[in-house]
Amino acid sequence: MYSSFAQLKTDCLDCTDCPLADTRTQVVFGVGVEDAEVLFVGEGPGENEDLQGEPFVGRGGQLLDKYLEHIDLSRGKNIYIANIVKCRPPKNRDPREEEQAACEHWLREQMRLIHPKIIVCLGRIAAQKIIKPDFRVTKEHGVFFERKGFYLMGTYHPASLLRNPAQKGDALADFVLLRDKILQVCERTY
Ligand code: SF4
Repeated sequence: MYSSFAQLKTDCLDCTDCPLADTRTQVVFGVGVEDAEVLFVGEGPGENEDLQGEPFVGRGGQLLDKYLEHIDLSRGKNIYIANIVKCRPPKNRDPREEEQAACEHWLREQMRLIHPKIIVCLGRIAAQKIIKPDFRVTKEHGVFFERKGFYLMGTYHPASLLRNPAQKGDALADFVLLRDKILQVCERTY
């Protein structure tokens, strides 16, 4: 267990615990405020993220930033963003079970140190890993699950919204629900 976020990051950046280390450009640890009350979790870095070392920086990331801005959140101000796996799966395929399992301890330590009140899962992979194995984004997006005093919610992955623009309205509504939940349970976010 780590007591320092900086040490956790330093060690994670050197990780070679799974085969994704062989094909990555760099580890994408996460970005944001280290004591944020709201944590966003995606599935893994894509091409732009692998090159720049930051989660959600491509077109999907720009869309995510727009939704965040809509409810007065930003990665520089009041949230943290991380991924289930910290290294890019080749050709943006889904991270394999064994890769997720190998990487899980980094996210678990991030969660323990950040200690968020709300975790928002971006897309199926993150929601099935963190909320429940049979989570279905189309049916359960925007629903808050309470677990041991904190709240979990799943919504669409921004990349999926770029492919299916018809879902953008539902995603925006999820962010409005998120704002309501923040106002209800968080003390420092706004
Ligand atoms: S994906 Fe995770 S476990 Fe695999 S090498 Fe990267 S940091 Fe390590």
